[in-house]
Amino acid sequence: MEIMADGDASETLKPLVFRLHENAPAIIREVLLERGWTEFDQKEQDDTDWNLYWRNSPFPMTDHHSIKPWQRLNHYPEAVRITRKDYLARHLKRMKGAYGSALYEFSPVAFIMPNDYVKFIAEYSKERQSVGRPSYWICKPVHLSRGRGILIFQDVKDLVYHCTVIVQKYISNPLLISGYKLDLRLYVCVTSFCPLTIYTYEEGLVRFATEKFDLSSLDNVYAHLTNTSINKYGASYKTYKEGIGCGCKWTFSKFRSYLRIFGVDDMLLWQKMNNIVILTLLAITPLPEASNCFELFGFDILIDDKFKPWLLEVNYNPALCLDCSIDDTVKRKLLHDIVELLNYKQVDTHRQNEMSGSKAVRRQVPWRRTGKSTPEEAPGLLSGRKVSTCISASQTPPALQFARGSVNKVSALTRKTARAHPRKTLTSELREKMNMPKASSPVKTEARNKQLPAVHSPLISAQLSRWSPSPEVCNYKLSTRPYFLSDKNQMPTRQVGGFVLIFPFNEAALQASKDGTDVKSIIKEINKLVSKQNSTRQKKAQTV
Ligand code: ADP
Repeated sequence: MEIMADGDASETLKPLVFRLHENAPAIIREVLLERGWTEFDQKEQDDTDWNLYWRNSPFPMTDHHSIKPWQRLNHYPEAVRITRKDYLARHLKRMKGAYGSALYEFSPVAFIMPNDYVKFIAEYSKERQSVGRPSYWICKPVHLSRGRGILIFQDVKDLVYHCTVIVQKYISNPLLISGYKLDLRLYVCVTSFCPLTIYTYEEGLVRFATEKFDLSSLDNVYAHLTNTSINKYGASYKTYKEGIGCGCKWTFSKFRSYLRIFGVDDMLLWQKMNNIVILTLLAITPLPEASNCFELFGFDILIDDKFKPWLLEVNYNPALCLDCSIDDTVKRKLLHDIVELLNYKQVDTHRQNEMSGSKAVRRQVPWRRTGKSTPEEAPGLLSGRKVSTCISASQTPPALQFARGSVNKVSALTRKTARAHPRKTLTSELREKMNMPKASSPVKTEARNKQLPAVHSPLISAQLSRWSPSPEVCNYKLSTRPYFLSDKNQMPTRQVGGFVLIFPFNEAALQASKDGTDVKSIIKEINKLVSKQNSTRQKKAQTV
């Protein structure tokens, strides 16, 4: 096929070609077709005649070795090193040991069971004796996702597992909005692990539990887990929830507006989240060398009532399904911006396998030349898509409240972990409910949390408020030029659509990430960055 270049009828360009592996999300096909790409046809086309290959599982190493200059793969080899819960826990623990807990205290203490059983019991007992009240723990199977197989407990007698799990400190004082727990899905795109190049996406999803948070009902899946895959089956999902609205999602933009109403420094939160992303990715660098890859990670971040962000997990293949209109808005733009970030150029349409034969069809589509992406040039999105709707919560009167967990009396520590009638996991209960013909609506519990007065403010609107790019200047030069660098100055573009470059953040960080990653030097730079951020904040606070 051939298409006409924008405004230049004489110039004919081949369309870019995408290749999807089975089970790749449908929205990827939609977005690429919207952009004038064509889908790879194995019967008709040469094996190398594609520009982007997207699959949900890792690529065989042979695919990495045979990559062509015009091609991109959506996974790095071994990116799973941080996306399995036990691997992540192990890497972060190692980094904490090597570089100090001050930087790495953003992930809840975790134990990998059964190996760490003795260590867990030691910590469990120590806490009981020193704090005087039992902590809450969450047990998660390492190979499952979407909230499956999760159990929250206080008493070790309730801990039951049949496979490798991580037992993690349960953050029992989450930030609540109108009594509902929430977490953030932050999209992160790594365009290169060497030199390390990380972009975070300004827009994202805030995911709410659909029943009020209540520490006295640890079994209530709709109150403690924020997975949409669970909450969309909740009795309250479609109903209007005060302060939240219908459904279970907000955009980051709405969340930021909300925080600002309460005078919360959302920029500080953004910086902290970016630091978490960099420090986490540093834990797995360097990865085996591979060119022309990128990785879209989904970082799940929970914010506590002191506005401290906690990393819960990192997702490989973050969900790209469209459950509601908010998903559609965020994910569609995200995918368009990823394609922009991949920096395809006109030359990428001249693949080895020329296709100017009889199959060529001349077609006129809007053609955007990518590769010089700037915020101003961010692609316009096609509108008018049909998705299952969930009513926007933009007119919702919000109320910020903080969790004040009640403490249950618990029995003394016992070394027996299995109970005669083990407690079901949260999701096994959900499954049972879902299988019941007449789903009994989950017991509504009164949140015992202190409520701040509800705010009825017109300021919270669907209008986008932005987390602007980090002020750190990326003024450095590279000797090699990977695909993601701009032509002009051979630097990673600072912002592409909603993607903001967060690493490297200065010349020293760049130098330390080239030619084998010098993690120690990078950590030193991050320490400097953090103290600079802190002093800027203090100065700001003094002038207010
Ligand atoms: P999954 O891969 O099964 O989704 P997650 O680690 O993302 O596993 O946990 C699912 C949900 O459980 C999270 O979205 C969050 O709401 C809750 N959760 C997980 N870990 C914690 C924790 N340590 N403290 C508080 N809530 C947690």
